[in-house]
Amino acid sequence: MASKVAVFGSFFVDLMARTPRFPVAGETLKGSMFQMGPGGKGFNQAVAAHKANANVTMITKVGKDAFAGIILDTMKNLNMPTEYIIQTDASSTGCALIMVHEESGQNEIVIVPGTCNLLNEDDTNKVEEVLKDCEYVLLQLEVNQDANERIVELARKHNVKVIVNTAPYAPMSDDFLSKVYMVTPNEVEAEEMTGITIDGLEAAKEAARIIKSKGVEVVVITLGGRGVFVSTNDKEDIVEAFKVHAIDTTGAGDAFNGGFLCALSEGKDIWEAARFANALAALSVQKIGTTVSMPTREEIDNFLHEVTKCQ
Ligand code: ADP
Repeated sequence: MASKVAVFGSFFVDLMARTPRFPVAGETLKGSMFQMGPGGKGFNQAVAAHKANANVTMITKVGKDAFAGIILDTMKNLNMPTEYIIQTDASSTGCALIMVHEESGQNEIVIVPGTCNLLNEDDTNKVEEVLKDCEYVLLQLEVNQDANERIVELARKHNVKVIVNTAPYAPMSDDFLSKVYMVTPNEVEAEEMTGITIDGLEAAKEAARIIKSKGVEVVVITLGGRGVFVSTNDKEDIVEAFKVHAIDTTGAGDAFNGGFLCALSEGKDIWEAARFANALAALSVQKIGTTVSMPTREEIDNFLHEVTKCQ
């Protein structure tokens, strides 16, 4: 049976407008389309893991406002437990204001973390009761880092393995990293962490060596359409991505991390887990959107069955 896992991280409401061009200071422009939906790296990763069949608890903090209803409704519709969606009136639910250029597809984004910057000791103390029964907890860097630091302490107390998706990149203390089991940066974040440009296998190995010298056991660097570089204590290699026609790679990293967490909770080894996560992410990039593009377990299993037949 799969073990229990948790995702501790952000929830944001994405407010997206398509615009013919970006406005200059003081200008108001008419956009052509507006879309609103659930997002935030923590939430996206929890949804990916849940849809893949993981026994996952999502932990985040939202306001007592209309946006909080979006996460609660989405989770109820997906049959996800909402017990650890902590609510406060101290700030508003986090949101992301996204402008997408109609022609170039380029975007400009302002993130207002709101309640996601306010995870305090009372919140992390409450989390202990669910964390203690988990095998893994997955973190990102989109909430206040002192809360992540407290989670790492609790995880250590209860022998829970910590995975940190180092996105969006922010410096982490050596003490924090020494208590982390695995990190999952993308190429840009791996460079920010180590100063090494990830332009090939040797560079990835060097970056992994630097990160491991801080006490991290496993380093997983996602390489977009090329797949993922994995460095454990006894093996280092690239697990290639599946060749698909990508339409929207937003949230590919979230899909990968959710898939990886799910596979590890089922007892798959790191290499099998990387293949499973590559499959989940490959399915997600073929659809527009983030949480809505995360595949179900049936879709992942069918995809893996088909590609195995063709090999
Ligand atoms: P991020 O979204 O954090 O920048 P990456 O771009 O490295 O993350 O992508 C994460 C994972 O998503 C990759 O390791 C791979 O498994 C999958 N992926 C991303 N782009 C593609 C693609 N074009 N085709 C197939 N899989 C992809």
